[in-house]
Amino acid sequence: MDTHKQVVDRLRATFRSGVTVPEEFRRAQLTKLMAMMKENEELFLKALHKDLAKPKFEAVLSEIDITTNELHYALSHLSTWMKPEYVGKNLATKLDDCFVRREPLGVVLIIGAWNYPLQLLIMPLVAAIAAGNCAVIKPSEISSATDSLVAELIPKYLSQDCYTVVSGGAEETQSLLKNRFDHILYTGSQNVARVILQAAAVHLTPVTLELGGKSPCLIFGGVDMAAAVRRLLWAKFFNAGQSCVAPDYVLCSPATRDAMIPALREALQDFYTQEPQSSPDFSRIVSQRHWSRLTELLQKSNGKVVIGGESDQQDKYFAPTVVVDVGEDDVLMQGEIFGPILPIIAVESLEEAIEFVNRQEKPLALYAFSDESSVVQTVLEKTSSGGFCSNDGILHMCLPSLPFGGVGSSGFGSYHGRWGFETFSHRRACMLRGWFLERLNGLRYPPYGEERLSWLRWSATPKSCSIL
Ligand code: NAD
Repeated sequence: MDTHKQVVDRLRATFRSGVTVPEEFRRAQLTKLMAMMKENEELFLKALHKDLAKPKFEAVLSEIDITTNELHYALSHLSTWMKPEYVGKNLATKLDDCFVRREPLGVVLIIGAWNYPLQLLIMPLVAAIAAGNCAVIKPSEISSATDSLVAELIPKYLSQDCYTVVSGGAEETQSLLKNRFDHILYTGSQNVARVILQAAAVHLTPVTLELGGKSPCLIFGGVDMAAAVRRLLWAKFFNAGQSCVAPDYVLCSPATRDAMIPALREALQDFYTQEPQSSPDFSRIVSQRHWSRLTELLQKSNGKVVIGGESDQQDKYFAPTVVVDVGEDDVLMQGEIFGPILPIIAVESLEEAIEFVNRQEKPLALYAFSDESSVVQTVLEKTSSGGFCSNDGILHMCLPSLPFGGVGSSGFGSYHGRWGFETFSHRRACMLRGWFLERLNGLRYPPYGEERLSWLRWSATPKSCSIL
């Protein structure tokens, strides 16, 4: 078997041959990737079920369709994205061709996480291929069934000289990271992100970090309570709360909290029956380690469980759980919950809620629920987060025309749609000059003088262009 260095060297040699650059090649590989997704849908669904007991419905939406939609989007926009972008000029450059050219970076590394093990590999891969790169793909070892399937299928569909899957955990990833990559897109926790950044610093490799955080949901002013709780619960308990953009906690007034609890109970019963453990529509926790982490969190919390709280270690089941009377210093508020526990924190006013949010690290997503657009606007203007959605959850990340990424400790850089193409492209500033306007151009040569200087200063302004 090739060492990691041999793998990267092989891909680099391919990249240098220029084979990945033409549009036809990129299109052919994207089309093959689409075929891989379509022809193996059943196998993917099985693997995702094995890893997370992902219901087919959720897996189709969040792993298969989101990815094939991204592929369609890339295929239909690729020609436009690849076109040179002509830019504004001044007098001295008026007769030149000045444009931005998107060029592939080289060999890129994509490191995925276990919670959406297919989506988080294939969506960045679409962007890397569209931008003309070679790529090493490193799935999460925790979602092992999906990891194995991706490792088996990618070489069957895509050029093996250009794209390679390297499986393994921390040790393999760190060995891989000793090599020089031209970009790294990492999805996962903040702690591991520090390891990635340190390894990237050695080679001055640019990095996109897709991390998590505590994404709040603020509910203020009037809301259609029945609709609000259904949207909130769907976003929270989709994939059993193991979504980077899941609402982590709710901030609302004591009156809203009291009105919400019966509505939450009713909606949860509608979703998963009175016995969510028997519902085929509710996922499991990915591993015993994560199950124990959640159990410990709930045990240590000083909050009051008002819905759920049950769990079953053997089955890696953790009930959809709602907790009230949770203080800012409660263990549930110390880190991202990343599981089916929803704390509701009562505050006296919208201003207090905004101050609460701004005391925490900037989240990956922020949700504001209200009938009043002024409430939504206020939250939007006075907070910061990777993405924002009002009166719903998660959906903002499904639109390929919006960038997906964090800010502050929820990450930096972005992808999806054109944004992914940009992430994996170098924007080369190009100026193609002829020998025109030599008298004007000659003003910059010695012997220098005040008059020449003032002409030069004027000719560099955009205004000067209007005379030609
Ligand atoms: P994980 O354990 O699957 O780790 C992510 C990747 O890092 C894996 O490929 C793993 O092999 C590798 N890794 C783990 N330890 C390592 C180490 N010590 N050195 C080098 N590589 C290592 O996933 P996770 O970290 O548990 O992911 C959960 C986190 O990811 C949550 O915070 C979640 O919010 C975040 N997340 C973010 C997004 C996003 O798009 N922003 C999406 C999904 C998950």
